[in-house]
Amino acid sequence: MKPSRLAFSFSYSLQQAFSGLSELTGLTLHKPSRVIFENSSVCNLRCGYCDFWRDQVPGGALSTGEWISLLERIRAWAPGFVLGLGYAEPFAEASTLPILRAAKRLGVPAVCSTNGTLVDHAKAVEICAAGLNNIYVSLDSLRPEVHDGLRGVPGTQAKALLAIRHLLSNRSRPAVYATAVITAANLEELPALAAWAADAGLDGISFQAMMRRGSAKDALWPGAKACAAIDRLMAAKRAGAPVRNSMAQLKNFKCYYSGLPPAGAGAACAAFRMLKIKRNGEVRFCVPMGGIGNAMRADLPRLWRSEAADAVRRGIRRCSNSGCRLLNCHATSSLGTRAKDAVNFLRGRR
Ligand code: SF4
Ligand code: SF4
Repeated sequence: MKPSRLAFSFSYSLQQAFSGLSELTGLTLHKPSRVIFENSSVCNLRCGYCDFWRDQVPGGALSTGEWISLLERIRAWAPGFVLGLGYAEPFAEASTLPILRAAKRLGVPAVCSTNGTLVDHAKAVEICAAGLNNIYVSLDSLRPEVHDGLRGVPGTQAKALLAIRHLLSNRSRPAVYATAVITAANLEELPALAAWAADAGLDGISFQAMMRRGSAKDALWPGAKACAAIDRLMAAKRAGAPVRNSMAQLKNFKCYYSGLPPAGAGAACAAFRMLKIKRNGEVRFCVPMGGIGNAMRADLPRLWRSEAADAVRRGIRRCSNSGCRLLNCHATSSLGTRAKDAVNFLRGRR
C-alpha cells in the first residue's frame, strides 16, 4: 500500500464528511472533493440526445499551461479531490493528456469519459501511460446500426469497440468501463450489454439516464416503458452482472422515466462538493445556477468562501431538479463497487 494513496484517501474521506456537515449547517467547512475541468468544447459526434456539440465555440479557452498551473494551485489548497476531465469529447482537445500527466505527477486520481472514436492504439498507449484511474467509453448498443444511429455518425460503434480493446490490451491500464444511455432504442438489450461487458473483460458498465435534450429527445424518450427493462437489468445485477450503478440509483431511474419524483436514496446532488471550471476559467458548482467568478483572475479559496458561492449553495439546497441529480456525475456507486475501487486504489493498481 502506498503511503501517498493512504494520505489521499484520508483527505478525500475527510472532505466528503465535511461537505455533509456543510450541507447540514449552511457553513462552508469543506473543500472540493470533485473537480471537473471542462477543458474541451469540441465533439466529433452528433448524438440525438445531446446539445453539447452545438455549443462549440472556438477560442477563449485556458492554455494547457494555465490548466496545469490551476491544477497545481487546487492541489496545494485542497489535497483530497478526484479530477474529472471533459465536456464534449476530451480526446478532441490537445490539453487533455498533458493535464492527465500532471495529475499523475501530483498524485491526483483522474477519471474521464470518451466516445472512444479518437482512441486508436497509439492514443490508448498514451492514455494508459498518463496514469488515469478510470475511463468510461460510450457503448449504447451491441447492434452497430443502433449505436451509430444514436450517435449520429456511421462507424462509431466499431471505433468505440476498438478503443476498448486497445485500452484493455495495455498491461498498466486504468479501470475500463462501458457507459450506455438508456433510450427507447436499446431497452431490450440492457442485460445483454452488462453480460457483454463481463465477457469482454471490462471492469464493468455504467448506465446513464437520458436527459431530455437534443434533436431526437422525443423520439428517443422511452417513458415508463423503461421500467420493465430496468427491472431486467436489476435482476442481472443481482445475479452478478458488473453494473456500476447502485440499486437505489436504478430504482430512481424508473421513477424518472415514469415522471415520478425520486424514491428515497440514490438521487443526491453532488454539486455541493464539486468545483467545475469552464474552459475560460469560470468557476461553477452547478451549471444552471451560473458562475461565481474566474479562477484565473481571483484567489480560488476566497471564491470558494465568497458570498456569491454561498448564494449558489443556498440554491443547491433548494433545488428539486430530479432529472439532473440522476446523472452519473452525481451518483454514488454501490457499496461493493466503492469497496472494490478503494482496494484497487490503495494497492496502487489504478
Ligand atoms: S453525448 Fe458525448 S459523444 Fe455524443 S455529442 Fe454529446 S458530447 Fe459528443
Ligand atoms: S441543477 Fe440541481 S441537481 Fe443539478 S447540479 Fe444544480 S443543484 Fe444539483
